[in-house]
Amino acid sequence: MPEVPDVADPELADAGRRRVDFAERAMPVLALLRDRFSRERPLAGVRIAACAHVTPETAALARTLLAGGAELHLAASNPLSTQDDVAAALLADGVGVHAVHGVDRAGHAQHLRAALSARPELVLDDGCDLVGVLHASPGLLEGVRAGGEQTSTGVLRLRQMAADGALRLPVAAVNDTPMQLLVANRHGTGQSTLDAVMRATGTLVAGSTVVVAGYGWCGSGIAARARGLGAQVVVTEVQPRRALEAVLDGHRVLPMAEAAPLGDVFVVSTGDRDVLTADHFAVMKDGAVLANAGHFDVEVDVEALATGSVSVDRRVRPHVDAYEQPDGRRLLLVAEGRLVNLAAADGHPAAVMDISFAVQALTVEWLARTDLAPGVHEVPAAIDDEVARTKLAALGVRLDELTPAQVRYLSSWQV
Ligand code: SAH
Repeated sequence: MPEVPDVADPELADAGRRRVDFAERAMPVLALLRDRFSRERPLAGVRIAACAHVTPETAALARTLLAGGAELHLAASNPLSTQDDVAAALLADGVGVHAVHGVDRAGHAQHLRAALSARPELVLDDGCDLVGVLHASPGLLEGVRAGGEQTSTGVLRLRQMAADGALRLPVAAVNDTPMQLLVANRHGTGQSTLDAVMRATGTLVAGSTVVVAGYGWCGSGIAARARGLGAQVVVTEVQPRRALEAVLDGHRVLPMAEAAPLGDVFVVSTGDRDVLTADHFAVMKDGAVLANAGHFDVEVDVEALATGSVSVDRRVRPHVDAYEQPDGRRLLLVAEGRLVNLAAADGHPAAVMDISFAVQALTVEWLARTDLAPGVHEVPAAIDDEVARTKLAALGVRLDELTPAQVRYLSSWQV
């Protein structure tokens, strides 16, 4: 039997619904998909457990899966991003919701297990959390046919599991489609991270030095947005190709040891640990802002920051703690070093999640009718193309079409 749902206050459903309806105005692709799903019911009777940020955008995905006939159980991806009114609205719509804003680690883990207690056929993950629980208690794996993974760090973990022969489930790397990398990772993380830093600290970006650690899809988006706001951007990297890309994009590339004294704002987006450490804190400017746009709260060594500080002024502003150094400098840590764009702002804009979740919903439809071997699977390119085409149509952007002669020319090797 599935465990009973857990939300903060079911009475908040109406408020939540208003916000979901508003977000949906920016989500035309998902709306079109939902129309088709309610006609064709491709998910009739399919039991799904999902782990996702409980936001209005996720609610739009949930409504789409329900329209397709699915039974849905939802656990929060991160207790800090859970919006209690949205959780209540989803519960009222018939989703088995297990999400309360701000619950501790044990409560969060319990919510993940509760979503899996429904014995799903498909799991949708946003950081390998559900897959992790499934593999830790193999009894639960029985009956699970496949999964989808929405975020870069989750896909990395899955590939490591597959390489070790530990992955016992087929999982589609939803994060890795070209549309996802471009729209969600670059534009979504780019905008929402800067948005979070500005909201939290009120910092003037123009004329400041923004240090971005990691020039992947997310980091390059953050760097582009920072420059667009008038910052001088310094990038730090460990991979030569990415460092070169940053140089050619016009950014200054330095080792972190040299960037540390220069930065007014530091954003780490590497997916690794110990990117900002005691050595760096020791030479940073007074008032330097530290934010993590990566997945886990280990990119900024918060423990070392705390140990090296003489005092911490908690909540000098909402989401900001000031760490006072022995020489009087104050370093401003945003969102306790956790995922800044979701903890201190609203995550990706709805228009971005429209793309992400359309890819996700079409992937679910594909998984529901396809038998795959355990391992990490690419999402079929046709799904990505369909989402791009639908989005362009919704935006009223028209394309040229190849003539038959052009098609022939492109597919022949003879001159
Ligand atoms: N478990 C992680 C979650 C990964 S965060 C954690 O510790 O918080 C990155 C993920 O958040 C991406 O997959 C992205 O698609 C998702 N995301 C970003 N904005 C969102 C939004 N508004 N609603 C739902 N999910 C969002």
